[in-house]
Amino acid sequence: MSLPLLHTEMRACRRCLDAGHAITPGAVFTGAAAAQVMLIGQAPGVTEVTAKRPFNAGSGRRLFQWLAAAGWDEAEFREKQYMTAVTKCYPGKGQNGKGDRVPSKAEQAFCRPFLEREIALINPRLMILVGGLAIKLLFPAKARLKDVVGTAVHFPPESLTPNPVNFDLSQGRWLNSVTSLQSLVSDSLAGRLVVPLPHPSGASLWPNRPENKALINQAIEILNVIRAT
Ligand code: SF4
Repeated sequence: MSLPLLHTEMRACRRCLDAGHAITPGAVFTGAAAAQVMLIGQAPGVTEVTAKRPFNAGSGRRLFQWLAAAGWDEAEFREKQYMTAVTKCYPGKGQNGKGDRVPSKAEQAFCRPFLEREIALINPRLMILVGGLAIKLLFPAKARLKDVVGTAVHFPPESLTPNPVNFDLSQGRWLNSVTSLQSLVSDSLAGRLVVPLPHPSGASLWPNRPENKALINQAIEILNVIRAT
């Protein structure tokens, strides 16, 4: 199946709604098959439903500050790279009314085949996992942000063949510093790199703590090295 056909199917999907989940239907994603980078968030926010643009509002401002520090221009990134989410429809507000509801396991399972088909069709060189839910696609559920932000995982080409959807951490090489990434760069960066980032929402205080800012800066440095190679 082609990517445009998959997009048509995703936009028409009402699976979660039909199963009784309180979503606003209308999948939100952007990008083309030639993208080298796939950025995967948790789920779209409320303004993204009408804008049809991932990371459209406040969280997008912070995310693109990080990406700009890694050398990406926002307009160019949005035009050339691929942006999607673990679940692609707006899940509504959480019970406390502050942030958005975290999509349930059932919704994640409903939407997972779409994500896998996006990955298979695009086969990105770099995958950026933004926020806890996306990070758990690859890392153990008990992994803390401070354990994974500032690291990268390299999957060699043979680990992506014949299945380009590989979230098996044991088949990748976990690089916990810029230096270890650079030693790989000089060797071979063929295959895929996966880099986690925290959720950039203003509702999250995690990125503001000094020790976490240092981890984010390390992640930005890692992204910069990957982008430049
Ligand atoms: S979140 Fe995914 S599975 Fe659920 S209705 Fe939207 S596109 Fe379909």
